[in-house]
Amino acid sequence: MFDEIDVNGTCHCGKIKINARVKKSKIRACHCTDCQKFSGAPLRAIAIASHDKISIKGTPTEYVKIGDSGNKRIQAFCPDCGTQLFATNMDKTSFNIRTGFLDQRSDLEPNQHVFTTSSMTWFKKQFLSDMK
Ligand SMILES: [Zn+2]
Ligand SMILES: [Zn+2]
Repeated sequence: MFDEIDVNGTCHCGKIKINARVKKSKIRACHCTDCQKFSGAPLRAIAIASHDKISIKGTPTEYVKIGDSGNKRIQAFCPDCGTQLFATNMDKTSFNIRTGFLDQRSDLEPNQHVFTTSSMTWFKKQFLSDMK
């Protein structure tokens, strides 16, 4: 309970609104090459919410990414402005919400960095020197 925080955000054009309750102990920064490509940024940070703790107003566009393992993931974004909103499994039971469009993004400090093997070399140099 103490670990949970209510978050909300809208895409850049305002067409999609999302409210959710996420766990503060499970904020993740992902440095994988897919996150870099999808976001156009060096990394992507996410907060996790189960399906009963998220409400979505508006209709995001869904792109199904097929991983090397054949695993399918829905990548959702605003059809108008392209703001990336979340990723979810095909059954939509768990949502990885992109923290960048949430009003509370500054409080959502990642406690885990994953796929750092593909981090930008300059990022490692500047920020990850103390990490494994
Ligand atoms: Zn939008
Ligand atoms: Zn990733």
